[in-house]
Amino acid sequence: MSQSQTPDRPELAAIREHMIIDGKPCTEGSGQTVPVYDPATGAVIAHQIEAGPAQVDQAVQAARRAFTGSAWGDMVPAGRERLLLNLADLLEQHGDELARLETLNNGKLLPLSHGLEVAAGAQWLRYMAGWATKLSGDTLSLSIPFPPGVKYNAYTRLEPVGVVAAIVPWNFPLLMAIWKIAPAVATGCTIVLKPAEETPLTAIRLAELALEAGFPPGVINVITGRGEVTGAALVAHPGVNKISFTGSTEVGRLIGRQAMDDMKRVSLELGGKSPVIIMDDCDVELAVQGAAGAIFFNQGQVCTAGSRLFVQRGIYDKVVAGLAKVAESLTIGSGFDPATQIGPMVSARHRERVMSYIDLGRAEGGRVLAGGQAYEGDGFFVRPTVFAELAPDARVVREEIFGPVVVAASFDTEDQAVAMANDTRFGLGASIWSNDLNRVNRLVPRIQAGTVWVNTHNMLDPHMPFGGVKQSGIGREHGRAAVEAYLESKSVCIAYPAT
Ligand code: NAD
Repeated sequence: MSQSQTPDRPELAAIREHMIIDGKPCTEGSGQTVPVYDPATGAVIAHQIEAGPAQVDQAVQAARRAFTGSAWGDMVPAGRERLLLNLADLLEQHGDELARLETLNNGKLLPLSHGLEVAAGAQWLRYMAGWATKLSGDTLSLSIPFPPGVKYNAYTRLEPVGVVAAIVPWNFPLLMAIWKIAPAVATGCTIVLKPAEETPLTAIRLAELALEAGFPPGVINVITGRGEVTGAALVAHPGVNKISFTGSTEVGRLIGRQAMDDMKRVSLELGGKSPVIIMDDCDVELAVQGAAGAIFFNQGQVCTAGSRLFVQRGIYDKVVAGLAKVAESLTIGSGFDPATQIGPMVSARHRERVMSYIDLGRAEGGRVLAGGQAYEGDGFFVRPTVFAELAPDARVVREEIFGPVVVAASFDTEDQAVAMANDTRFGLGASIWSNDLNRVNRLVPRIQAGTVWVNTHNMLDPHMPFGGVKQSGIGREHGRAAVEAYLESKSVCIAYPAT
């Protein structure tokens, strides 16, 4: 499983230990560095710089200057569109290097890095490029009756919100960086992005490619470091107009509170505990595979992971046995090995966290139907785990684990399925597995979630809004909604004499 560390491996050549501020590599930091690991071996592969308040300030000032500077501020929308299209092309041209770098740093399977970080990243860039030239306000008919003899012409103009501070997690590092950068720059904002301390490497390369694509210096800045140091300083910086955060509900709540103190605009994409609801009329084989994919995809390190499985009683034993069989059959190993189906957790700390939930599940009375242990070896592996017979108030049922751990329970009626699915503080995603159109139509409106999938799970598209209700967040990414989140609407009211 271990990787040889020969310098001719493309992912090693792509490692950068600097940040990108104002179009230049920056190697100055707080004095601290943070190690970056290969989670499949536990080896240290890089030392990222930790940006302290001085570097955060430099990055925000650079973004402010770029925002008001003529190179960016006066660029026509078609110019921004062209730069995003250039960046999409460069992303594909460097696809192999970026995908390998992501697999090295995050541990995910190489085909996923190719398909979901690089190819989807390019798709999102191109989609958002199109929005740059399609932004428009409204013309308004006003009814103001005074003063006599005066008429009004009114309209709204959409203006970029300004400097965006974007903070992203480690589960889809390159794609999530693009989910923030693409709509921000399509609308004319500038951005300071802080990747997760576990996975900074592809974001730095992305910022370099953005310069090559022609983005003026300061439009896209990437700073690195720990959340409580670099992230906190970025959120608090008075030069930031909007914070776009993806991460845990706990950190999101802190950031939301702080944003309100300064009235910064804020979008929060937070945690989940998504239900998978399997009705007895479904295609059972499809549903078993679907439930397995919903939780084990990306090792369960997915905000919409289907971590709570509810199966109608008549098919419960069959579905749960099928899921346990899939879980036991999955090949665990390095993301570079084509035979691997389950890669490592992103970090030793995260593996400990997932394992502590598995131990807790046993202590709470759960029956382990598959997995239940870590995986021997140097990397940060956990076996795919299926629990049954846990009480609805068990912590393993209620808290986000963010690993390959699913809890299964049965229900009898649609009302029970809805009550169980909604019995959570989260509301990010949900899936319903059924071939009964009437049931599906009855259930969809009753599920409290930002996205409800039917006979599929975890499918995203740049044109389909994505986000959470309840404690899964505020705001939507993708589609028109994402673009609007980076714009302010200015009303213009022009008085003129009627004659
Ligand atoms: P996290 O909240 O610990 O960290 C996310 C980011 O926030 C990292 O870049 C981190 O450095 C930074 N951060 C941490 N503390 C900070 C602080 N005090 N101030 C500013 N920044 C700070 O989350 P994580 O463990 O990296 O990621 C997993 C979480 O992300 C899960 O809860 C998952 O559900 C969520 N997530 C949500 C979505 C979504 O779209 N809703 C997508 C992916 C992941």
